[in-house]
Amino acid sequence: MLLSLLALASPAWAAQAVIVLSMDGVGFKQLETIDPAFVLSATVTAIRPPFPSQTFPGHSTLATGVAPEIHGVFSNRPVKAEREKGYDAGDGRNQSTRLHAEPLWVTASKRGLESEVRLWPVSYGEWPSSSAHRHQERFVEESYSQVVASVLLSVKAWDRKRDFLYMSWTPGLDRVGHTYGPLGEPLKKSWSDVKANVADLERLLTAELRPGDRIVVVFAADHGMQEITKLAPLSALERVFGKDAYEAEHRWTHALFHAPLTPEEIAAKAKAAGVPLEVRPVKTGINGISAIGSLPPGTAFAGELKPGDTCRPDGKKPGWFDCQGIGQHGYPPEETPWMDAAFWTWTSDGKPLPPRPTQASGLPAFVLGTF
Ligand SMILES: [Zn+2]
Repeated sequence: MLLSLLALASPAWAAQAVIVLSMDGVGFKQLETIDPAFVLSATVTAIRPPFPSQTFPGHSTLATGVAPEIHGVFSNRPVKAEREKGYDAGDGRNQSTRLHAEPLWVTASKRGLESEVRLWPVSYGEWPSSSAHRHQERFVEESYSQVVASVLLSVKAWDRKRDFLYMSWTPGLDRVGHTYGPLGEPLKKSWSDVKANVADLERLLTAELRPGDRIVVVFAADHGMQEITKLAPLSALERVFGKDAYEAEHRWTHALFHAPLTPEEIAAKAKAAGVPLEVRPVKTGINGISAIGSLPPGTAFAGELKPGDTCRPDGKKPGWFDCQGIGQHGYPPEETPWMDAAFWTWTSDGKPLPPRPTQASGLPAFVLGTF
């Protein structure tokens, strides 16, 4: 009895590294459709992103464990109130002080772990006076093979005196999905490249193992993607609201509205303009956002439309706004399962991990629970 209690109390590894790799735009339903064998073999599960289901809000929820209404990042770009505080759309959008909630790498550092963050959206600098031990300061997009090389370098440098948390963004399938659709042939090719790099990573990490080590890799996507089947007229929205009252991801799937417009006023004006916008109040008012207007799933904003018009695979049509391609995300995830993101893990010892999260907000607790 005593022996089994001791076995439970002390981990079987001397030091542990957890590597969290985000997989931008890898949806659970996408993977289930294009590669069902992988989903079964890797035991991929779905995690629900926050709303808006976009990259920066999603990564901020993965990192902080709370919704955009609490962490304050509603958009890939800083919103008006943030720009007034000096955050810009370039590197300024990645400053971690945009976050109103503590990110995982800060929690990990406080708990005595060694931590490193590379390329993670909204992660630069100190939050507000503490940061990861090693930190990428500028966003330089990396291919999967570069990500694999970076992870390997860091694991080689890990001194094993402390447990180690490593977090990095990866390109996933996002850009290919936007341009060629969430299930197109280019996306399938891209996925087989991702898989090959993931297999390389697992093989190379295995080669780095020392006695007593445990390495856990968490693959967590930020959102899925859906094909666009309808377009809504952006110009009508611009005429009604002007560019000051709404902004951000308006060319895609949703619009963010500033106070003092009330959600009721926004809904009434959108309806009068013929824009099928569903309006949700933002209760906290963080960053001056009073409401988020969302288009129906599968719809995107574009220029003036004629019945039957659709976006073309190259995302362009003369005289139109850029259609942003034929794959989109950002919709309320509870209304479309295509927004659900893929989640899977790899461990060097195959031993059980804590229960998997079902929401993106569950990631920090899951990661901290593995130590
Ligand atoms: Zn993304």
